[in-house]
Amino acid sequence: MNAPRTNLPVDPARIAALIDGLAAITEPDRPYTRRAFSALFPRGRAFLADRFREAGLETRIDAAGNLIGRRPGLKPGSGTIMLGSHSDTVPDGGRFDGIAGVAAALEVARSLADRGTALDHDLEIVDFLAEEVSVFGVSCIGSRGMAGVLPQEWLVRQSGGLTLAEGIRQAGGDPARIAAQARGDIAAFLELHIEQGPVLEEEKFDIGVVTAIAGITRIEIVVDGRADHAGTTPMGGRADALAAAARLVTGVEALAKSFAGGRFHFTATVGEFSIEPNAANVVPSRARLLIDARAEERAMMDLFANSLDQMAEQIARETGTTISAPRRISDNPPTPADPMLVTVLDAACSAVDASHRRMVSGAGHDTAWMARATRSAMIFVPCRGGRSHAPEEFAENDDIALGAAVLLHAVLQLDGDLQKAIQETA
Ligand SMILES: [Zn+2]
Repeated sequence: MNAPRTNLPVDPARIAALIDGLAAITEPDRPYTRRAFSALFPRGRAFLADRFREAGLETRIDAAGNLIGRRPGLKPGSGTIMLGSHSDTVPDGGRFDGIAGVAAALEVARSLADRGTALDHDLEIVDFLAEEVSVFGVSCIGSRGMAGVLPQEWLVRQSGGLTLAEGIRQAGGDPARIAAQARGDIAAFLELHIEQGPVLEEEKFDIGVVTAIAGITRIEIVVDGRADHAGTTPMGGRADALAAAARLVTGVEALAKSFAGGRFHFTATVGEFSIEPNAANVVPSRARLLIDARAEERAMMDLFANSLDQMAEQIARETGTTISAPRRISDNPPTPADPMLVTVLDAACSAVDASHRRMVSGAGHDTAWMARATRSAMIFVPCRGGRSHAPEEFAENDDIALGAAVLLHAVLQLDGDLQKAIQETA
């Protein structure tokens, strides 16, 4: 967030033009909305594909519906260095989430073309299909598909009379071929993304080098009490499911705060909550809560889950309610970034004089899925007030351009050193 730099090896104006161009392709009264599988999405994609071609990239859509622009390297068979993010948005979502990463990736390819710099490796720029939770209720379709971990049963999920398989086909993909397109050639994947949190802005860093993407575990708890007349049942003789659940909610918050005090990233949120019968004159008989917990280290998640079990038992005993054993509805482990790439990104930040700190991503990203298939890492750029998934989401174009310069340096470094670096860290 310093003064604009004038000596960057990338063109900030081109980045701004790409982001503005996509921002203009939105549901008219609902900026900035361009959801995957919507009627508008292909217009955004067509705009992007034109820019890819203008940059001299061989442009195609892969079996999983990812838009890919390719710049062949001098040494066929060396492998592919891939850069990218996603261009779909949440409803009423942001101008920069994902889009900044696609724009920065494309700018790397353009800058290389401007300078006539040839790489040994193939370079691919990717716009992953449907990173955000889509109308099919699932996310990161394209990156899961590219990594070969898209659950087959998802393809028959339905929305508005369409299956996910048909949605992928409409986006230009070929769902039957997703499993067969295994990409063994990708040597490294890098993603730039807005932070979606306040840390870089508050601490005045230009770049966050992401060391891990937090694992996300969702835990459901059901509290059963007894419905009684709210006016006639004495306070001492109740089994109030909501009063017990409220203790759980504040307990989860206190537990998460105690975990987050250390040097590791941890959050826990009761984001879904319902009670029955939800009537003014009835003691609540049932409460259901859904906890979203995110941890940098798997051991922390296990410790949190154990503490939660004990807390639930104790509250049940003290309140005369029955509390179900906390149940993990979904459970994804943390994704550490590739250590070699983290080192390369640190060095690339220094090379362009970008102040930087290492940090953990509390949000999920395509990188988490690409890491299943290849060495992967990501960088964050600051965003105003940490706001995201909202129309107010904003990132300074110069910050994105500086991030693109970091990617460019990292790509040049990787192109020269990938084989050596792989051997050294093996
Ligand atoms: Zn995103």
